[in-house]
Amino acid sequence: MAKQNVTGEFVIIESDALGKLIEVLKADYEVIGPTVREGAVIYEEISGMEELPTSWGDEHEGGKYRLHKRQDKAVFGFVVGPQSWKKFLFPPVLKLFSAHKKNGSFQVVENHDSPPRMAFLGVRACDLSAIAVQDKVFMNEKFTDSNYKSRRDDLFIVAVNCAEADGTCFCVSMNTGPKATFGFDLSMTEILAKNEHYFVVEIGTEKGAKTMEGVPYKVANKEQKNRAEGIVANTAKQMGRSMDTTDIKELLYRNYEHPRWEDVAERCLTCTNCTLVCPTCFCATIEDVTDLSGETAERWRKWDSCFTKEHSYVHGGSVRTSAVARYRQWMTHKLATWIDQFGTSGCVGCGRCITWCPVGIDITEEARAIRENDLGVKSK
Ligand code: SF4
Ligand code: SF4
Repeated sequence: MAKQNVTGEFVIIESDALGKLIEVLKADYEVIGPTVREGAVIYEEISGMEELPTSWGDEHEGGKYRLHKRQDKAVFGFVVGPQSWKKFLFPPVLKLFSAHKKNGSFQVVENHDSPPRMAFLGVRACDLSAIAVQDKVFMNEKFTDSNYKSRRDDLFIVAVNCAEADGTCFCVSMNTGPKATFGFDLSMTEILAKNEHYFVVEIGTEKGAKTMEGVPYKVANKEQKNRAEGIVANTAKQMGRSMDTTDIKELLYRNYEHPRWEDVAERCLTCTNCTLVCPTCFCATIEDVTDLSGETAERWRKWDSCFTKEHSYVHGGSVRTSAVARYRQWMTHKLATWIDQFGTSGCVGCGRCITWCPVGIDITEEARAIRENDLGVKSK
């Protein structure tokens, strides 16, 4: 068969050809994919198909995450783990520059380390949306973060449509999933039946088409495409949670004084977990370090969280000293002020903040409680 891949076409690859795809990608990229470590699915560099979480599934509930062995050979039979792809585009720790003492003054050397060219394998639809949200934060008309841009520009993305949802997923109500509709080079749906195991692959870009030239495939027929569509449609019916986003910005703006903030603050430990697992949160702090001789200094950027008191420190003290103020700030930013700042919600419905909150605080439930008892008072 003549191999004429065109963007928007669908092909199928057998399950073991996934190894070949990884091999082809490895020639040009550092391939990052899901793998199991210490009881969780995380993302890190993988060298082959054997490192993928084959036959692993996961369970999510408020404050609960467990892996379990599946009875089948599903490669992507889990939902999302505690990590997101943001750690590769917006690293948790990054040196910005160093300064070296020379002839009585300091010479500043900016950090222009070239990040590796990366291929992400297994990006869920909610996480594709999260990357698009962070693009608006780090590469907007006014400001561009050069380190983020250099990582993002060369990125190759293989998305995976979700074949199952879990207890804390609510991508459908955030309009971000479970099907990947944009932002990918290739997008796969895993088909697993009695004697069949293959992937329906949608080709999203010319780059994706070029990559597929090195992978054995067949053109997908109508039935195979319909099966893939059916799987995603079924997943959409399995959402564990939902968020009513009607008028949500105004709802939160007119409920700054809602008693629910006190209620949630009594449960919130201000531990910062929700912000660290969130694929869109981008708070950072700056730390300067010097060596003991005073000859060299370095400036580092590190992930921070709006749940720490220090994060809102301005001259003379912190602005948000209470858990009430910090939880309200986080949720109102996610669902309301983010829209004013970036033209999009800061929440993509991945459910990680619910799963990884040690006390099971649920952003959908908090929003619902405020909606059910809307004070209707506009802030000044
Ligand atoms: S909402 Fe949960 S995860 Fe977030 S800071 Fe509070 S206790 Fe920690
Ligand atoms: S706020 Fe929670 S559900 Fe929304 S994107 Fe962040 S971690 Fe996911």
